[in-house]
Amino acid sequence: MTQPDCLFCRIVAGEIPATVVRETETTLAFRDIAPKAPVHVLVIPKEHYADVVALGAADPALAGQVLNTVADVAAAEGLDGTGFRVIFNTGASVGQTVFHAHAHVLGGVEMDGDLTG
Ligand code: AMP
Repeated sequence: MTQPDCLFCRIVAGEIPATVVRETETTLAFRDIAPKAPVHVLVIPKEHYADVVALGAADPALAGQVLNTVADVAAAEGLDGTGFRVIFNTGASVGQTVFHAHAHVLGGVEMDGDLTG
């Protein structure tokens, strides 16, 4: 179900432009508008779920398709050999600002193990 005032639903609908790097029947991957790493791609289900918990509970197969697209994006961006980070911010208190489930795929730079910054 599409949410009319959801930013990422509007990107899926083509109402807001995005730099799309991969699209499947059920998922979309596009470059983050404010990249935090040389590669910073967002992977979303086209269907609206507020976060990854809601997505996984309602449609585990779709959650798996999102992860498949994460892997395909990482390979296409040349990150599968070097490694990359996948983040699903879940909740405003940890910085989620867009309440449409999305994976951040980050790579192309050395990162340490500090995940709390
Ligand atoms: P989060 O803070 O986990 O909810 O992540 C939302 C991400 O969406 C942030 O990294 C933003 O930079 C990114 N973002 C916001 N608007 C756009 C847009 N129009 N196109 C691409 N990325 C966006």
